Amino acid sequence: MKEVFRIKKILQGRLKKGDDLYNRLLEIIKENNIRAGLITGIGAVSKVTIGYFNQEKREYEQTTIEEGLEILNMHGNVSFKDGEPFIHVHIMLGRKDLTALGGHLLPNTTVYACEYEIVELEGTPFHRSFDDETGLYLWTP
Ligand code: ZN
Repeated sequence: MKEVFRIKKILQGRLKKGDDLYNRLLEIIKENNIRAGLITGIGAVSKVTIGYFNQEKREYEQTTIEEGLEILNMHGNVSFKDGEPFIHVHIMLGRKDLTALGGHLLPNTTVYACEYEIVELEGTPFHRSFDDETGLYLWTP
């Protein structure tokens, strides 16, 4: 399944030190009435909460790390879940020893600094629904 979108506009900005990364991005999406889009960003966090989807158990395992980490890459998308705008964001982080870690971004992640772009797309937004095959909420045709 796929849908063709056009770029409507690009919001670029900076988050504040202390912001909750996931919750603040979702707020910006809602404040700007964005129904479909892409999220990117770089910066740093002082704490991160990420999930790893365990395919055998079919559930997210959640980990919080309190450590100064570089946001090497953050990439996400905007769609709908249960009739509400929903963001799905993955983040790759760099440690002091220059190794990387990452996962599915969750609330309870504290921004140290973050420069972001939100690309608003024009087209029919995707809606998520539960997929029996994977145990995930996936885009439904
Ligand atoms: Zn994910």
